[in-house]
Amino acid sequence: MRIAVIGNGIVGTCCGAWLQRDGHEVVFIDPLGPAEAASFGNAGSLSPSACLPVGMPGMWKKVPGWLLDRLGPLTVRWWYAPFVAPWLWRFLRASSPAEVVRIATAMRGLLAPIFECYEPLLQRAGATGLMRRSGCLYVYSSRQAAKQWAWGMELRRRLGVELREVGEEELAALEPDLKGRFRFGLLAPENGSTPDPGALTRAIFAQCEKDGATTVRARAGGFRLRGGSVAAVTLEGGGEMACDGVVLAGGAWSARLARQLGPAIPLETQRGYHVTVESSTLGLTHTVMAVEHNIMANPMRMGLRLAGTVEFAGLSAAPDMRRADALLARGREIFPHLDTSRVTRWMGHRPCLPDSMPVIGRAPRADNAWFAFGHGHVGMCGAASTGREVANLVAGRAPQIDLSPFSPTRFRRAA
Ligand SMILES: Cc1cc2nc3c(=O)[nH]c(=O)nc-3n(C[C@H](O)[C@H](O)[C@H](O)COP(=O)(O)OP(=O)(O)OC[C@H]3O[C@@H](n4cnc5c(N)ncnc54)[C@H](O)[C@@H]3O)c2cc1C
Repeated sequence: MRIAVIGNGIVGTCCGAWLQRDGHEVVFIDPLGPAEAASFGNAGSLSPSACLPVGMPGMWKKVPGWLLDRLGPLTVRWWYAPFVAPWLWRFLRASSPAEVVRIATAMRGLLAPIFECYEPLLQRAGATGLMRRSGCLYVYSSRQAAKQWAWGMELRRRLGVELREVGEEELAALEPDLKGRFRFGLLAPENGSTPDPGALTRAIFAQCEKDGATTVRARAGGFRLRGGSVAAVTLEGGGEMACDGVVLAGGAWSARLARQLGPAIPLETQRGYHVTVESSTLGLTHTVMAVEHNIMANPMRMGLRLAGTVEFAGLSAAPDMRRADALLARGREIFPHLDTSRVTRWMGHRPCLPDSMPVIGRAPRADNAWFAFGHGHVGMCGAASTGREVANLVAGRAPQIDLSPFSPTRFRRAA
């Protein structure tokens, strides 16, 4: 079959690569090159343990304080508040303990096979060096401080995540750069990361091209339907691309196209920032999640990347790089000896549903269209397993994980 894949971020690229393994002809449609949107600048964590939703029980109590702090971990630009309010309401409703257990169970299913789903793609691309399994350290100022997050950590353990307690001395031995400021940690040894998320995406994409994929550098504007099937993707600026099937993997921009093939899906962008400290001389060997600081530090090829924070301001507003500077300031608190003389700053759009789960499944109004978007904070983690499952759906094979929680119609049911 000739399958059009809309979007060549990490999710679309992995879908294309897995579809090619079944012998399909893949045509990517994207006005941008591979990994020029969210998949370029993320923190690069590949974490089977990242199954908890963003909205956790009791979080609502912290939200007002965060909202008042323009440079804090979560902010809404005031003019955007009326637009995002219904979404935030759904987000808070999805943060009850029962919902969190349900969501984490589903997400663990998607994230547990991260490495088995990336490995064949990276091996074929000759790029296994872009994925490392070096573990992640969640670090805290004290064992007492960690108790605040204990419920979530216990839930992770119940779902099969290995989390090993690390005392102050061992922590300092594992990561000397953390010495003195963090006295307790949890090591997730099965976690991994990439030293360059953009390069990882581009490597898989380049292999897709070698294996015959072609690219249309245009924005998809809609679909031409014949009966209950998509016959072609129409392109903004004119023209169309005939296809036998279509996968919609347009990241944070997917909602408008999805609406043409099914009920409305409440997709929102959670804008996130990074600072890459190119002048860093730190010797970190793990991904470090400084939980109280709400910041992730990952040693990358181009320097130490500090990433995090959530900003609600839609898809068009200009970045507020003061948020990136605030990340850098927190980075300096964590690593006072960090050389910050050379840094780059970036903002990207996380495609987010209120329940922190992606949409993976057949489009409700077309029998040859499939949705693969909304991976939120874990798109790097979930892309390869999403690709495998999309290939299963297209082939009519049984899914290898339970896809029902990711159904494109779940919001209609909730409404
Ligand atoms: C600061 C930050 C840190 C993060 N850290 C991590 C992390 O450590 N681990 C992790 O797993 N995830 C992380 N994420 C999340 C991750 O980056 C995203 O979930 C992931 O990149 C989404 O991939 P995607 O392919 O869906 O979207 P994108 O990479 O945004 O790609 C979407 C593509 O679709 C194209 N497109 C859109 N509309 C159309 C159209 N109409 N026609 C054609 N093409 C279209 C766009 O041009 C774009 O190229 C982080 C995100 C941010 C912002």
